[in-house]
Amino acid sequence: MKKHNIPIFIPHVGCPNDCAFCNQHSITNRASEVTPESVRTEIAESLKTLEKKGNFSAEIAFFGGSFTGIDIELQRAFLEVADEFSDRVDGVRLSTRPDYISPEILDLLETHNVRTIELGVQSTDDGVLLANRRGHTADAVCRAAELIKSCGFSLGLQMMLGMYGSNPKLDVKTAEDIIALAPDCVRIYPTVVLKDTYLEELYRAGKYVPYSLDEAVALAAKILEMFREKSISVIRIGLHSSEAMQSDIAAGPFHPAFGELVENRIWREKIEREIISLGAERLRGKDFIVRAEKGDTSKVIGQNRSNAKYFKEKYQVAIKVSAD
Ligand code: SF4
Repeated sequence: MKKHNIPIFIPHVGCPNDCAFCNQHSITNRASEVTPESVRTEIAESLKTLEKKGNFSAEIAFFGGSFTGIDIELQRAFLEVADEFSDRVDGVRLSTRPDYISPEILDLLETHNVRTIELGVQSTDDGVLLANRRGHTADAVCRAAELIKSCGFSLGLQMMLGMYGSNPKLDVKTAEDIIALAPDCVRIYPTVVLKDTYLEELYRAGKYVPYSLDEAVALAAKILEMFREKSISVIRIGLHSSEAMQSDIAAGPFHPAFGELVENRIWREKIEREIISLGAERLRGKDFIVRAEKGDTSKVIGQNRSNAKYFKEKYQVAIKVSAD
């Protein structure tokens, strides 16, 4: 049965912070006020569309801001609206900041239909958190993650690659720290420079250089494999594509199919290791058969045949897929 999220974007209303990279309105693409009534209508319409398609399972997902930072009465009102649909959805998931988690907040979420809490970790390096004006340290992440798990919620952690002041080594360390917190799921986002943010000022002043697309893809591939080795589910790689958001990007490694590029890179590296271990010279001019599941064929060959071209040019090897 296909799983769906019913995304309800709660823009900056929930967040008085101003992180260096964040422009809530361009990310959520929603300038209008979100009210319990508008949320009720949105959920009802989404469910109507899903129900027309037949069997499905869905979660209501409050994303876009820091849900648990919203005025407590408004939080309660949103959650009560979500409860009205509890017989038609599997539960509620929401995203928030680590320092907006407390036993009192978790008590409130527990009395409603909330199953999963996702924390925007971004980095576990205190210097990077400070440079990006996050307003909390890595300690807050550990405390919040432990509290969430001890209350029986499913835990999601979100990390960013290439923040201001970070580098590949620190990003890998963040992934290691996240693994140590044993989340149920993870999201990986490359940092892009959004217009009208402090990060854009740093970028224009030459103080911040974003990763190139190739660097970000290579690093995300490495980190994705780290999570997979520990059987941690990665539910998103790269920002959602929306035209409004793309027009708000000033610089950085944005690609609408970033996750696909990362999967292709994993295959490229796997095949390259194999070619080198078998002896690249010996394989020159030959076909190289890759066994893969049917659904992975395009990942092996790469977007626009990029992997096939790479091996042809570098090793004069023709990649062929034998699909299981
Ligand atoms: S805490 Fe989240 S929503 Fe608030 S400014 Fe930072 S990134 Fe944006």
